[in-house]
Amino acid sequence: MKIVRTTPELRLVLRDARRGLVPTMGAFHEGHLSLMRAARVECEQVVVSLFVNPTQFGAGEDLERYPRDEQLDVRLAQEEGVDVLFVPSAQVMYPKGFATWIDVEASGGEADARPGHFRGVATICVKLLNLVRPDVAFFGQKDAMQAAVLRRVIRDLNIPVHLRILPTVRDEDGLALSSRNVRLSREERERALSLPLALEGARSADDPVAAARAALNGLEPEYVELLRVGDATLLTAAARVGSTRLIDNVVVEGELG
Ligand code: AMP
Repeated sequence: MKIVRTTPELRLVLRDARRGLVPTMGAFHEGHLSLMRAARVECEQVVVSLFVNPTQFGAGEDLERYPRDEQLDVRLAQEEGVDVLFVPSAQVMYPKGFATWIDVEASGGEADARPGHFRGVATICVKLLNLVRPDVAFFGQKDAMQAAVLRRVIRDLNIPVHLRILPTVRDEDGLALSSRNVRLSREERERALSLPLALEGARSADDPVAAARAALNGLEPEYVELLRVGDATLLTAAARVGSTRLIDNVVVEGELG
């Protein structure tokens, strides 16, 4: 596996082959690894990007506290047969004078809860797509609204890439894996379980939003909403457990393409 930190280096290692891109912020868990595996199966050259993108964090969010472990990530990516791990610095991605943004019109859910978040996400993803020029880009259903926003961007800007959205990987007890889970205390982790349980229990209710809200034992949700992603309807929610913000979703109807 090649570890690449600059854009000229990246250009040099790209081969004329069916290429897959897995954008990440690192602190890899089985969710990230499942995307790498899917890319490995479908593509000849697998590029994983590891960049904690500062522009998608709002003021007062956890940019500084975001979990980082590059050494372990290098080892895990290597074990998955990743060809190129792209680890740019903030200076490489946002050089002095940076002034161009992808501003997606989105509302509800994460868009309202985190103003400016999707502008940062869309901008970094378009930059990564331009740099890597993958045939296929892999994203997790865990961040369903992110996938929906990126699908919009790709269509609106005619970016020639196929988007794959892969199922959320969960711990045995149902909690969706997230890099932020390491910050949950044992007691918080226990309380966090009511998020997946409430969503799962509400998915076939007549009013899934009301049912999920009623089942969120002791967790005050930031929102519980239905979200349309392609042909699927998802029940999505965000809740804070202590100082950690968790999101999750389940498919209520249809299938994610
Ligand atoms: P992140 O590093 O959190 O930005 O996530 C990188 C990619 O991994 C995104 O496409 C996420 O949706 C995806 N991802 C994060 N958690 C999971 C999970 N539990 N299962 C599947 N994919 C995930």
